[in-house]
Amino acid sequence: MMARMSRFVTKGFSWFNTHLSGEKMFLVMHFFPLFAFFTQVKPVDWIICVVLYVVRMFFITAGYHRYFSHRAFKLNRFWQFIFAFMAQSSGQKGVLWWASHHREHHRLSDTPLDPHSPKQRGFWYSHVGWIFDKRYKRTLTEKIKDFAKYPEIRFLNEYDFIPPWVVGFTVWLIGGFSALWIGFFLSTIILYHSTFTINSLTHVLGKKRYETGDNSRNHWFLALTTMGEGWHNNHHFYPHSARMGWFWYEIDLTYYLLKVLSWLGIVKNLRPVPDRVRYAHRLKLLMQSNQG
Ligand SMILES: [Zn+2]
Ligand SMILES: [Zn+2]
Repeated sequence: MMARMSRFVTKGFSWFNTHLSGEKMFLVMHFFPLFAFFTQVKPVDWIICVVLYVVRMFFITAGYHRYFSHRAFKLNRFWQFIFAFMAQSSGQKGVLWWASHHREHHRLSDTPLDPHSPKQRGFWYSHVGWIFDKRYKRTLTEKIKDFAKYPEIRFLNEYDFIPPWVVGFTVWLIGGFSALWIGFFLSTIILYHSTFTINSLTHVLGKKRYETGDNSRNHWFLALTTMGEGWHNNHHFYPHSARMGWFWYEIDLTYYLLKVLSWLGIVKNLRPVPDRVRYAHRLKLLMQSNQG
C-alpha cells in the first residue's frame, strides 16, 4: 500500500515537472480561482484569502527581502527557518534564489546587467519574464554564502515547492476546495503581482527623493499594497535599514510588525536609518543654496 502510494506521489510530481513546470504552471495557476464558480464560496474563504495575503506579504518583505537579502535585523536559527519557510509559502522560489538575485539587482540596478530593469527591458520582462529566463534559473550561491552555509536553508531552497504545498494542503483540510481556490490560490496570485510591481513599477512610477544613480522611486499606493516595499527610492539609497518608510507619514506595515516582534524578543538588532542618510536630500539643497 505504502509503496503504491509513494509511486503515485512520485509519478504525480514528475507529471507536474514535465508538463507544468515553470511558466506553464504559473499561467495555469491563474485560472484556478475560477473553479470557485463550481463550488459554494463561504465568507471564511475570503477571510483566509485576506489573512494569507497579509501574513505572507509580511514574510516576503521581512523574510526574502529585508532579512535574507539585506540582513537588516537578526534572528536566531529557529526563527530564521520559520521566516524562510513562510516566505517560500508564497511560491516565489527558494529563499537563496530570491535573495541572491535581489542582491544582484541592487549591485547592477538599471544597468544592462540588472536581472529586472524596466528601463532596460520593459514592463513585462521586469514584472515576470525574467523569472522564467534561463539566465536567472540558477541560485547564485556565491552571492549568498552567509545563508547558504545553513543546511536547513539549503534544503528549503532546493525543495522550494514544500512550503506552498504544505500551506495549500492545510487550507484545503480546513475549508475544502472553495477555500483552496479563493483562500490559497487567489491570494497567491495577488501576492505574485503585488510583489512583482516592486520590480516593474517602482522603477518607473512615483517620486525620486534621493540621488541613487538608478531609476528607483517612492510610491505611496504601492507601499500600502506591499506593506512598505513601495518606498523603493529610500530603500535603494540605504538598503541596510529594516525600515523603508523613513518619515511618520510613510506607512511601512512590515516595519511596524517587525518592531512588535522585537518587543517579543523574536527579532533583534533592527538596523536604523542614520539621520545623515534620512536628511541627505535637505543637506544637498542646503549646500546648493549656500554655494549659490
Ligand atoms: Zn529596485
Ligand atoms: Zn532590496
